[in-house]
Amino acid sequence: MEEQDRYSRQTIFPGIGREGQERLGDSYAVVVGCGALGSVISSALVRAGVGRVRVIDRDFIEYHNLPRQLLYTERDIEESLPKAVAAERHLREANSAVSVEGVVADFNRTNAEELVAGAAVIVDGLDNFETRYLINDVALKQRIPWVYGGAVASSGMTATFLPGGRPCFRCFIQTPPAAGTLTCDTAGVVNAVPWVIGSLQAAEAIKILVGSPVVSRDLLVLDVWTRSCESMPLEGFVTEDCPACSGTYEFLQGKARTRVTSLCGQNAVQIWHAGAVGMPLPEIRERLAALGPVEGNELMIRFPVGQQELVIFYDGRAIVRGTRDEKVAKAIYAKYVGM
Ligand SMILES: [Zn+2]
Repeated sequence: MEEQDRYSRQTIFPGIGREGQERLGDSYAVVVGCGALGSVISSALVRAGVGRVRVIDRDFIEYHNLPRQLLYTERDIEESLPKAVAAERHLREANSAVSVEGVVADFNRTNAEELVAGAAVIVDGLDNFETRYLINDVALKQRIPWVYGGAVASSGMTATFLPGGRPCFRCFIQTPPAAGTLTCDTAGVVNAVPWVIGSLQAAEAIKILVGSPVVSRDLLVLDVWTRSCESMPLEGFVTEDCPACSGTYEFLQGKARTRVTSLCGQNAVQIWHAGAVGMPLPEIRERLAALGPVEGNELMIRFPVGQQELVIFYDGRAIVRGTRDEKVAKAIYAKYVGM
């Protein structure tokens, strides 16, 4: 089979065709979050021949990711690779003709606009609502279509939000679910769910990129355990006083100086503090080395603090492992990084 036949099964399909395939080749897609959903989404886009794919993820790979996160291997864990770095490597192996870029970063309001600029579609591979509101803001502001997907326990849902087409995601879910009510931490997740949802998201993204007239206008909810599937028209979710729809991007403009988040499925708390952004990692390392043993590389450093461990990343973000208590985590952060 010759290289030029690589996409023959897509060009034969009338919904894509040669013209659609060319459009894919000229397209740029951004996948935010590369866990279970993002593994499937980015694989589908890269293998389908989307010309440029950027994958953004802030985490490192852990063993409890492997049952679902198809892109990663035990070797990636042994090599302590960030997900974005391992994803880039594996995706390039799948299709060397595509420009793949793994970005190790916490997608937040300070970098969101820059990270998605110029994309023809944004695909959500996230695990938290706050960042989805941020995608919604930046997608509306830059008029980029985006594809939402979520998976928990045995069920998942997906919807596509188009610029100018109401409702937006903020209309659709006006306030995020209370912390700890429904997460993969408390409810678990069946691996097939993110795979099905991620595949549906990838199909939507491909439809958008080839300019298909049949982009979905529904919320699809399915359950792999009860084998049920429901489609609801998005129109029913339009909210009259939605700030995002009227051009007020609250999540993008957020005034918060510090964000503290208990991490899903882990005995850990993440802290982001505006004052730490741009703080040189070698400097922090040198300071901490005077107090005890420090390990790490140019992307992150690890510093044990009693029963906990402080992990500081190059972008100013930190994770305190060994506690779910946000106060304990903040205290450690304040003492060793400063806030
Ligand atoms: Zn809205």
